Amino acid sequence: LSGLALSATGASAQSGYQDPHAPVPARVADLLKRMTLEEKVGQMTQPAVLNMQGDCQWAGGALVDSCMKHVLVDLKAGSVLSGGGETPPQNTPKDWADMVNTIQKYAIDHSRLHIPIVYGVDAVHGHNNVLGATKFPQQVGIGATWDPRLAEQMGESTSRAVKATGPQWDFAPVEDISRDTRWGRYYETYSEDPYLAGSLGAATIQGLQKTGQVAGTVKHFAGYSAPFSGHDRTEAHIDQRELQDTFLPAYKAAVDAGALTLMANSGSINGIPAHASHYLLTDLLRRQWGFKGVVVSDWQDVENLQTAYHLSDSYAGAAAIAVNAGVDMAMIQPGSVDGFVNGLISDVKSGKVSKQRIDEAVSRILTLKFKLGLFDHPYVDASQANGIVLGADKDLAVQAATESQTLLKNDGNVLPLSTGLGKVVVTGPSADSIPNQDGGWTIGWQGIPDGVDDPGVTIYQGIKNLIGDHAKLVKDSGDAVDQTKGADAAVVVVGEKPGAEGANDNETPELAADQQKLVDDLQATGKPVIVVVVAGRPLALGGAADAKQLLMSWLPGSEGGTAVANVLFGKANPSGRLPVSWPKVAGDEPMFYQQLAGTNSGTSSSYDPLFGFGAGLSYTSYAVNGVSVSGGSTVKVSVKVANTGSRDGDMVVPVFAQQPVSRILVPPNRLVAYTRVPLRAGQSTTVSLTFPLSRLAVTQGDIDGSSTRSVIPGQYKIVAGGRSADLTVR
Ligand code: BGC
Repeated sequence: LSGLALSATGASAQSGYQDPHAPVPARVADLLKRMTLEEKVGQMTQPAVLNMQGDCQWAGGALVDSCMKHVLVDLKAGSVLSGGGETPPQNTPKDWADMVNTIQKYAIDHSRLHIPIVYGVDAVHGHNNVLGATKFPQQVGIGATWDPRLAEQMGESTSRAVKATGPQWDFAPVEDISRDTRWGRYYETYSEDPYLAGSLGAATIQGLQKTGQVAGTVKHFAGYSAPFSGHDRTEAHIDQRELQDTFLPAYKAAVDAGALTLMANSGSINGIPAHASHYLLTDLLRRQWGFKGVVVSDWQDVENLQTAYHLSDSYAGAAAIAVNAGVDMAMIQPGSVDGFVNGLISDVKSGKVSKQRIDEAVSRILTLKFKLGLFDHPYVDASQANGIVLGADKDLAVQAATESQTLLKNDGNVLPLSTGLGKVVVTGPSADSIPNQDGGWTIGWQGIPDGVDDPGVTIYQGIKNLIGDHAKLVKDSGDAVDQTKGADAAVVVVGEKPGAEGANDNETPELAADQQKLVDDLQATGKPVIVVVVAGRPLALGGAADAKQLLMSWLPGSEGGTAVANVLFGKANPSGRLPVSWPKVAGDEPMFYQQLAGTNSGTSSSYDPLFGFGAGLSYTSYAVNGVSVSGGSTVKVSVKVANTGSRDGDMVVPVFAQQPVSRILVPPNRLVAYTRVPLRAGQSTTVSLTFPLSRLAVTQGDIDGSSTRSVIPGQYKIVAGGRSADLTVR
């Protein structure tokens, strides 16, 4: 394997914790009793080994030795990560695998007990860190597919790529609920709906962890997406009802799906940093939900309890607060590892943190490593990496991007375009841009760095693949307008630039003025103008809102161009549905379909979006011809659906619950089930869906803060496609 003698050395094989046939709990107990306090605390640290600013650079194909020695020998770190942008972008999958093998071998050889590290990465839309790996749509696009089966397949594909390049831990999926389009990480969420987000995240976990060789991570627990300023990592205020009914269910769904790890929210809720919350990380997560896996901190967030939140005046104090609250492992930049390790050791010596708590955390970490097979098979075959990763599962990426395409306007059924058109102008800032299609966390943290070419199919290339030289890419706006006058149609691809975390916050999430003007000018030619939006959030469209053809492409990933072209030219029938609500103007926040009734307009809700949750057109027409429901602890819903048009297509069938009368305010609609049904032109069928009655539960709190959560007895309407059936709950 790449010239390395890669075998666990030194220890007597096949005995105690090294016996691959012994049960995991016995191996953990045996190893734990041999470990010193320093070794245990080391296991609880996860430094970033490839921090480009630090001394841990991967230079000339080798890690700087002083860094490896410091992190892995002196401090005995049990895990390392490459966060966004921390590996040189030029690295091939094989380079990655060589690098991870090298670090692993160094760690095992220098560890007294030959304990392997577990290596973490953010593979959030495919193995997005690696040049040449296939990039799937970002999570909000997966939300638009309403297709958990596909989410599971993408999870599986991602885990194959991640494992082939060495790492065994993926910091995905994000189970935060979309709330505010100003927030820079909006595109990393699946949906504003708790059930849709939870079901897609659960499926992703199942896919990621299917082989048993990669761990997924439920993040960021809890309420990370709700900073009320709209700025990343700033304070959130979430009452019990909002927490229980809106934010927690999606994390819980992914925990119930067997997630092996969970990451805490960097922000504070109601004045308490999540990393200091015993309620969240222990009472709720462990005692109520029964989570058995590893809780990892977010980046630097143990130290932040001292330096940002001032909960303590020392690093040791911060470590005690976090570990006692329930953090098992601290994710840290290399320069801060000493502070955590030495601080936590002194906490144990002074009794601030009990030895049992340390043993509990370390047992969880070792259990993860044994479960992932790291003690028995610590290395990957680097010679296989390029073959497994490069260009893999492109068809799946095309399918995912295709299913995510959400057609919002098609006045006069101008779409689909004919492939026989004489001239189609393709223009706009995202018409020919892989970085814009991929978004943040791709090769670099803020997106693909300048000068790095990652393969993929841009929207222009996708169109060209279908209509050849009849597609004319025109970069200059003025020229594009002139050329459109003599063309059959224009496709204008607008949107936003890639970005990550706080750097991607946007106080005015609106289409840039020059892009609005380009759409206006093109429309003034009188020619058919198809507006395609490549963005991670519903941008207020301003003057472009009167577009006659509007396709939301999200951040469709490396194969997005093929998907968009297939939809525009009718090779695929659009089937995406909005997983979030689209505000009319920037600033109309938050905008979500579960908003409660108000009195300001005399209408039932202040919910007044440009396009509502679930919106999405097709080239065929669908009908719901009846809904029936039968009750019990599992509710069964049958929906008669039909494709009444002339094209085959996938129909997304959302099922909502309504309570016509309720003694407390409840959302006017709540998604309780959904499915995606392929229907041939003219075909009709009956689909059966089920949901647990408990999905109807609401938190019934009073203004004094007291609350209970249960299903309110009474009359419910179960609604699909405008048809409904009654359900009585006693
Ligand atoms: C992000 C996490 C990510 C971690 C490691 C943090 O800044 O909040 O989502 O997993 O970095 O890259």
